[in-house]
Amino acid sequence: MTRPRVLSGIRPTGESFQLGNYVGAVRHWAAMQDENECFFFLADLHALTETPQPDALRRRTRESVAELLAMGVDPARSTVFAQSHIPEHPELAWVLGCLTGFGEASRMTQFKEKGGGTVGLFYYPVLQAADILMYQANAVPIGEDQRQHLELTRDVAARFNGRYGETFTLPGAYAGKPGERIKDLQDPARKMSKTIGGSGTVWVLDEPAVVTKKVKSAVTDTGREVRVSDDKPGITNLLTILSVATGKAVPELEAAYAGKGYGDFKADVAEAVVEMFAATRARYVELIADPAYLDEVLAAGAATAGAVARTTMTTVRERIGLLAPKP
Ligand code: ATP
Ligand code: MG
Repeated sequence: MTRPRVLSGIRPTGESFQLGNYVGAVRHWAAMQDENECFFFLADLHALTETPQPDALRRRTRESVAELLAMGVDPARSTVFAQSHIPEHPELAWVLGCLTGFGEASRMTQFKEKGGGTVGLFYYPVLQAADILMYQANAVPIGEDQRQHLELTRDVAARFNGRYGETFTLPGAYAGKPGERIKDLQDPARKMSKTIGGSGTVWVLDEPAVVTKKVKSAVTDTGREVRVSDDKPGITNLLTILSVATGKAVPELEAAYAGKGYGDFKADVAEAVVEMFAATRARYVELIADPAYLDEVLAAGAATAGAVARTTMTTVRERIGLLAPKP
């Protein structure tokens, strides 16, 4: 029996991956590797919307491989590759872009939230659709923030299939639960993000003392009660984090902290986060010391991913009517 195919990506931006990337995405990736045929990629083309320094982008792409492996992605079981190593991604994005309405793309909240920007930013969800459809993925483990992009992917895939015949698998949502959207510690109205960074972002490679400092200075409200509430976004966020880090349900945690102040609670959140990333930090130090190995992982990944991508694109080119070059 063939296993369902899963695909997901992450941008090699920021200082390292952040707590929300782990909670909303990468921990699910690590857990899915036996039951699924997994493709995980570093979205270096998507990172270009931030116009990173060239050296920084190269360095972060390699570091990102080490971080993924340190968080439990296993290249012996999963295909790990860099998006730019497979030039079929932007090619398919162009084809899909010609089936995507301008208004449809304009409705993407991520684009609207950034308040305009480059054509690249506008095109971002179309490239993402290409990433997913290229591999005929059945499921896409993503954080809440990407749900709308996945819907667009399904719509465009259905449109292609309707027009040119069954070609693409419609990917099912494997989105994290709404509670798994981790908020910025300094501004719990917005999600934690690599490119925002600062003291509201916990990096998975942060030293324990730094994690503790960031968690202890997290914005809370003026009350005293540790409970989930719309008017307590900071405490709600910390409860989500503690729940993920300890495996305990939120109501159980609310009961445990009844009558206790924010101080004890925050100290426990900090300790739990440090504990959650202890093994990741240790493994990362070993992995980053061997860049040749990290490059080998990417080369093996590109070989596997490239074979699938070429198969998909041969079909796509034929279906849409591009004249094949003489062999
Ligand atoms: P950037 O600021 O570069 O966009 P990011 O932190 O948003 O960085 P992405 O590379 O865009 O990270 O996304 C990688 C994965 O992490 C996606 O599946 C996304 O849904 C998930 N993710 C990102 N931020 C969060 C968050 N705060 N909570 C839960 N999941 C998140
Ligand atoms: Mg993002």
